Amino acid sequence: MVLRNILLVAVLWACLPTTPAWGWGEEAHRLISGYAVDLTRGSLGEFLRLHRQRIVDLSIDADQRRNHSQTEGPNHYIDLEYYGNPPGSEIPFSRQEAVAQYGEDNMAKWGVLPWNMIDVALALRDAMGAGEWDQVVVLAADLGHYVADSHQPLHTTANYNGQLSGNKGVHSMFETFMVNRYINQFHRPIPPLPVIGGNGMPDSIFIWLVDSFREVERILVGDTWAREGLNSQTEALLAQGDQADPKAIPKSYLERLYLQTGLIAWRRMSKATVRLTALWLWAWNEAGQPLPPR
Ligand SMILES: [Zn+2]
Repeated sequence: MVLRNILLVAVLWACLPTTPAWGWGEEAHRLISGYAVDLTRGSLGEFLRLHRQRIVDLSIDADQRRNHSQTEGPNHYIDLEYYGNPPGSEIPFSRQEAVAQYGEDNMAKWGVLPWNMIDVALALRDAMGAGEWDQVVVLAADLGHYVADSHQPLHTTANYNGQLSGNKGVHSMFETFMVNRYINQFHRPIPPLPVIGGNGMPDSIFIWLVDSFREVERILVGDTWAREGLNSQTEALLAQGDQADPKAIPKSYLERLYLQTGLIAWRRMSKATVRLTALWLWAWNEAGQPLPPR
């Protein structure tokens, strides 16, 4: 069945559009946020569904802010190798402690994704508690973006573009060109939702990041296999990353990359979806389950 699906998309892929971007491609961000809205139960779910389109549209806003903000970039990634061995094992939960231990300048280079996610989750809780429901929509969408980024394994490593392992350009090939080609294979995940309890919120976020990091090696190995036999001209094209001409990227390379890493991509996107729903519900529970406007 899986093989048949893969063969089917191999035939269909040339018909699908691509939109290069940094972070999961825009379509992936939109799908993750929309599916998470669909999965949210209770009165919060009803409220989010009233604003589904806006949440989906705003789910890519954080990437657009990167274009005109010096400080936004590091909010989207974390290079876990700099935080202990095994990677991430010595990462402080508190941003203040991290600053004291590693220094702001280093953190600006290595990324601050987990602390940013914690800040946005707490801001969402506070907005719910204060009854600022317009702001709830904006923050729920932003949180969706960062949760999705935290599930893209190449957002958790210093070798984020394969530049240290002969896989230059893999970042966009994996998250944008490949995912967009096969986006119709990503379906709404089925609960159960993970449980995020009280002070366990930061804990969960750090576990998710280490979980993402575990997939880095498999993506790089898959990319290396997919590149076998490519000439230097094509390698140079792939190295252009999101600047590469989509029409010039060989079909055979994306097919092979999908065979090797497609399931990783769908698994990460599914986890991002259910965990985003769980995080929205966590914020709502922590705020005392305030009744949203209808
Ligand atoms: Zn991003």
